[in-house]
Amino acid sequence: MSQQLQRDDPTGEETLIEVEGLKKYYGGDGVLAPPPVKAVDGVDFEIKRGETFGLVGESGSGKSTLGRTLIRLEQATEGTVSFDGTDITELSGKDLKHWRRNAQMVFQDPESSLNDRMTVGEIVREPLDAHDWKTDRDRRERVRELLEKVGLQEEHYFRYPHQFSGGQRQRVGIARALALNPEFVVLDEPVSALDVSVQAKIITLLEDLQEELDLTYLFIAHDLSVVRHICDRVAVMYLGKIMELGETEELFNSPSNPYTKSLLSAIPRPDPTATIDRITLPGTPPSPRDPPQGCQFSTRCPAKIRPEPYQDLDDDVWEAIERFREIVRERTRVELSITDRVKRRTGSFSKHDDIEEAGADLFDGVDGPASVEEPIERALERVKAGHPSEARDMLREEFGGVCDNERPEHYTVSDTGRKSYCHRHSDEYADVEARLGRETRGE
Ligand code: ADP
Ligand code: MG
Repeated sequence: MSQQLQRDDPTGEETLIEVEGLKKYYGGDGVLAPPPVKAVDGVDFEIKRGETFGLVGESGSGKSTLGRTLIRLEQATEGTVSFDGTDITELSGKDLKHWRRNAQMVFQDPESSLNDRMTVGEIVREPLDAHDWKTDRDRRERVRELLEKVGLQEEHYFRYPHQFSGGQRQRVGIARALALNPEFVVLDEPVSALDVSVQAKIITLLEDLQEELDLTYLFIAHDLSVVRHICDRVAVMYLGKIMELGETEELFNSPSNPYTKSLLSAIPRPDPTATIDRITLPGTPPSPRDPPQGCQFSTRCPAKIRPEPYQDLDDDVWEAIERFREIVRERTRVELSITDRVKRRTGSFSKHDDIEEAGADLFDGVDGPASVEEPIERALERVKAGHPSEARDMLREEFGGVCDNERPEHYTVSDTGRKSYCHRHSDEYADVEARLGRETRGE
């Protein structure tokens, strides 16, 4: 009885999924391999039964990887995921197969996620066959029931995905995900590829199904307006880390984390035609093979805490130093991978191919004290000698503050328990002049 009550109440406190210290790294095995891609780099949170938990962040921040790892489409590198009290990262064989019924995924791209050589009926039925679900007749019956549930007709059973529109294909994807009656569904940008008018219909369908079937959702999106509409709580992700997590309205109305603030400030003002918001922040996100040593957001953060000796330095000089450091960091990426090298060639870095020119450009007309010039000169020399990593480390030692050097904690920033990952929330830095408000407003 109490179980039922809690299931029906999305604000109930019953935890369905508890994630602790979860990491997912790709590659990096072997002495000669490049360092691993740290797609998910230590996250902790819980999802309550019946809630819609949102996950937002720029492309490449690790959202899909986290979603896949939660339902064991990926094996975690470290950490635990307990699902109804069972650590599913440890499951294998029969136990794993049996558990898989509980958790399913709906993918962003209904074009490529459905097998075009199978009929819709076969696609929806496939998980039932794989799990040897009941009898042949029951399966056919179940597929018909599912098609109806997601708003498709019986005659669609024998059609092929390519005969369908994007919205209909996504309905097929949803029917398939629900075939085994899961408790938890990861929706990985389920409407991002669809037309605006279709998006709304699919969202409504998902909401109706959640209510009818007592589903718990992880809703991944980069479109913040959809998240605001549908999610109870939201986690904001950047470079494999959760930057802020809290109740949706509160987080949207009064974000605490500089990254969340930047993200929200990038939303165009109300415009009914602009439902797919592309997030743009200045600078390029660092490579997840080589994330910043301190706070993941430190290389782009407008609220970064300056180290003590440079508190009073002219803003122009400080700005030039930061840009110079960015260029040197870009240089170090070249050592990492071919892909990065290509990116670099096509990216903004190309005009600073000559590091001396870059230095001259940046510091031209900037009147910096000798205490600034000397380390810059030394760094220039190291880059020219072919050791950009040394230059980077040297610059961090000289100009780096707490944000460059230390990982922040997750601070509780509201009485509803919202968490934010930022040194600014520490008492120690409470008296540091906050430049953030001004800068995110673009002043
Ligand atoms: P998002 O969904 O937020 O766009 P992803 O989880 O897809 O981000 O990717 C996070 C990072 O992990 C990216 O740098 C991506 O290139 C990398 N990545 C994702 N899947 C793999 C994989 N199978 N092998 C290697 N790197 C991967
Ligand atoms: Mg993704």
